[in-house]
Amino acid sequence: MRLVIEDTFTKELPADPITTTERRQVEKACFSYVTPRIPSAPSLLHISKEVTETLGFSEEDVQSKEFLDMVTGANVQEGTSPYAMCYGGHQFGHWAGQLGDGRAINLTEITHNNKRWTLQLKGAGETPYSRTADGLAVLRSSVREHLCSEAMFHLGVPTTRSLSLSLSGDQVLRDVLYDGNAAYEKGAIVCRVAPSFIRFGSFEIFASRQDTETLKTLTDYTIKYFYPQYESGTKEGYLGFFNEVVQNTLNMIVHWQRVGFVHGVMNTDNMSILGLTIDYGPYGWLEGYEPGWTPNTTDRQNKRYRYGNQPQIGLWNLLQLANALVPLIGETAQLEAILQSYHTEYPKKYLSMMRDKLGLQLALETDSQLVADLEKNLQASETDMTLFFRNLSQVSKNDSTNVKDAFFAFAKAAFYKPEEIIGAIYTRWESWFQNYLQRLSQERLTDVERTVQMNKVNPKYVLRNYISQLVIDEAEKGNYELLNEIHTLLKNPYDEQPEHERWFAKRPEWARHKVGCSMLSCSS
Ligand code: AMP
Ligand code: MG
Repeated sequence: MRLVIEDTFTKELPADPITTTERRQVEKACFSYVTPRIPSAPSLLHISKEVTETLGFSEEDVQSKEFLDMVTGANVQEGTSPYAMCYGGHQFGHWAGQLGDGRAINLTEITHNNKRWTLQLKGAGETPYSRTADGLAVLRSSVREHLCSEAMFHLGVPTTRSLSLSLSGDQVLRDVLYDGNAAYEKGAIVCRVAPSFIRFGSFEIFASRQDTETLKTLTDYTIKYFYPQYESGTKEGYLGFFNEVVQNTLNMIVHWQRVGFVHGVMNTDNMSILGLTIDYGPYGWLEGYEPGWTPNTTDRQNKRYRYGNQPQIGLWNLLQLANALVPLIGETAQLEAILQSYHTEYPKKYLSMMRDKLGLQLALETDSQLVADLEKNLQASETDMTLFFRNLSQVSKNDSTNVKDAFFAFAKAAFYKPEEIIGAIYTRWESWFQNYLQRLSQERLTDVERTVQMNKVNPKYVLRNYISQLVIDEAEKGNYELLNEIHTLLKNPYDEQPEHERWFAKRPEWARHKVGCSMLSCSS
């Protein structure tokens, strides 16, 4: 196995001089050197072949013991020095101080085809940032992270990737419901991959400590490697960099809204500076279209991170990043103007994305009303978001001759209780559908052309919450066929895949209130 190791984070940024895992406040340093814990019986459960290719691993590499050792922390590659990053963050709207990589250990940076990648193990043991926890991860949360990172990538959503999912062979104690019933679970390790794992909180920690020197060093480093079109050390450069982070974040969140992804813990320590979806914890997928829904039981009270609030939270998080950058820029007016642009741009980008979902190419004034009416109707009775939009592409411009039949022909499968679509609810749907058909008649595309376009933005298959749970239940028993099947299915989420049609269906009733399917905690 020959990796092109090219560490820059540890070479160019200040290190914590202490190298034990003793929990502590780490000051004036961006990271601490740590060693992954040696797993007692490591074994690979799944590898993402596309990621191995992206990174330049050969088939032979992947089969080797060296590879297994690397992705499970059993052995540290020669020439590398693993480390945990120091960062802070706002959790649920409050400054939480130092957080850091508590259960993530960065192995090294490699380059392949002129691209830079950091390899990071999640669940490989303690670091100075582990606080009261153990630095480990369990199988269920690792299956969720591995599958979802890859599903998001193939959906076209900016995301960190997952190279591999392994068992450590160790037992890990977890209290899933925080109700005093802790139990042992299988320990697991995911090897995550991204150009960088720097977060908003990486900048916030130094600003909070008035450590402008380290703040500047980290910002200049980030610009140098990841936003090289901007000049570091200048006010214009920092503003340009911030503006682009704003655009990248906005773009990512529009994608989340498009596919019905709810992150669940949009704390600023979970916001990538590259605008990648990061930290797959208690995330979930909308089944019934419900802007008020969050999968995270820890957030049940305020539902701060509910689906419909993600765009606002993105802006709030960017405001915290802007505050952290003030010491480098010396004033706030231009930062505020950039934040204001998110405020004005988001509704435009959202509307444009919804036009795509509806198969509309022209931009007409009345479209925002059409979208608003649709959002209201989708909530009137539980309606499956994925099924609704996917089946909408089957509508024909000529359907106006028998509106009722045409409406139910495509929409019925998406309603959890089709018998509820009567009276006032049906009247609203009929009126919306007539407006939609009327709107389609103004478009140039034929029905067939429009179907093709719509099927590129409305996925047929997403990682429904209950599907992950089925995979987990099987994996807990040592069966990994379903893991393979779902990983394969989600590589082509926009394709028909008739052999997988059973996954193009509403959530089954048994999953409605089941832990892991509709409710998730941070305990992973
Ligand atoms: P999260 O909300 O999952 O991103 O976690 C917030 C913070 O808690 C981060 O600093 C994590 O590294 C840390 N953390 C979460 N779970 C563990 C764990 N099992 N062991 C150590 N640190 C953890
Ligand atoms: Mg995190």
